[in-house]
Amino acid sequence: MTTIERVVEDTAVNLLKLAVVQLPTDVKEALQRAYKEETSEAGKVQLDAILKDIELAEKENTPLCQDTGIIIFYVKAGADAKGLDKIEVALQSATRRATKEIPLRPNTVDPFTQKNAGDNTGRYIPYVNWQINEGDVIEITAFPKGGGSENVCSIGMLTPGEGVNGLKKFVIDAILKAGAMPCPPTIVGVAAGGGADIAMKLAKASLLRPLNESNPNPELAKLETQLYEAANSTGIGPMGLGGKFTVLGVKVDYAHRHPASYPVAVAFQCWAARRATARIKPDGKVEYVTHKVR
Ligand code: SF4
Repeated sequence: MTTIERVVEDTAVNLLKLAVVQLPTDVKEALQRAYKEETSEAGKVQLDAILKDIELAEKENTPLCQDTGIIIFYVKAGADAKGLDKIEVALQSATRRATKEIPLRPNTVDPFTQKNAGDNTGRYIPYVNWQINEGDVIEITAFPKGGGSENVCSIGMLTPGEGVNGLKKFVIDAILKAGAMPCPPTIVGVAAGGGADIAMKLAKASLLRPLNESNPNPELAKLETQLYEAANSTGIGPMGLGGKFTVLGVKVDYAHRHPASYPVAVAFQCWAARRATARIKPDGKVEYVTHKVR
């Protein structure tokens, strides 16, 4: 095993552990704010239980939800970084090790034979989303994605004439249809354009944008606020038991589209919005971005 393979593997194991045990600060703060501002008694009780669960998981160093998800990684790799060809193998080994060491629930099942691989790997899984950048730094984000929120993701091939109002209706209908299933309050990623696959990829990736970071495009920032307010006026509330907080945030992205197509994708992330990021420098030093590591 090369040095870079070892560093990537060790870092990815740490990232998976950090992700499943400790939510990023922006998510914790959004849940605390929701608890303070929630007016429904049932909603407040649910948020209180969620906050206690988060605290207990950190104290006991144990996963905060029993569903530790399907393992997805986002890799932003500097084109000059060494050992890029070894990264996928290292991420697979990290997933196997993390499954045993943390432990994670073995979730990967063959869709035809129903056989569980037992170690959270399998065909295309862990899935690695690649982005090649300038430079020599490798940034890795671990994104364990739970099944409940994944089950309600939705893609619509709208007609171009439906435009932004059609998009808003599609998103709110998806949130209403999802109801309690994605364990609200959720984060909702929305993307328009590209094609069916591109829209869903962008919608999902937008779930990684911190809740306290507003969209750099003012028009999209406005759309995010409008969708956030509309989603929270549905009354679905925490865990679907009624209340003000159905979502913690809505994130919007887009790609240019074919004139005849208007794909809209809606990706859901549950309150257990787990993600952890680290940067690996060329000298092998690791900087953790989303979590404090002693
Ligand atoms: S949707 Fe999220 S919080 Fe709910 S059970 Fe699945 S992973 Fe856990």
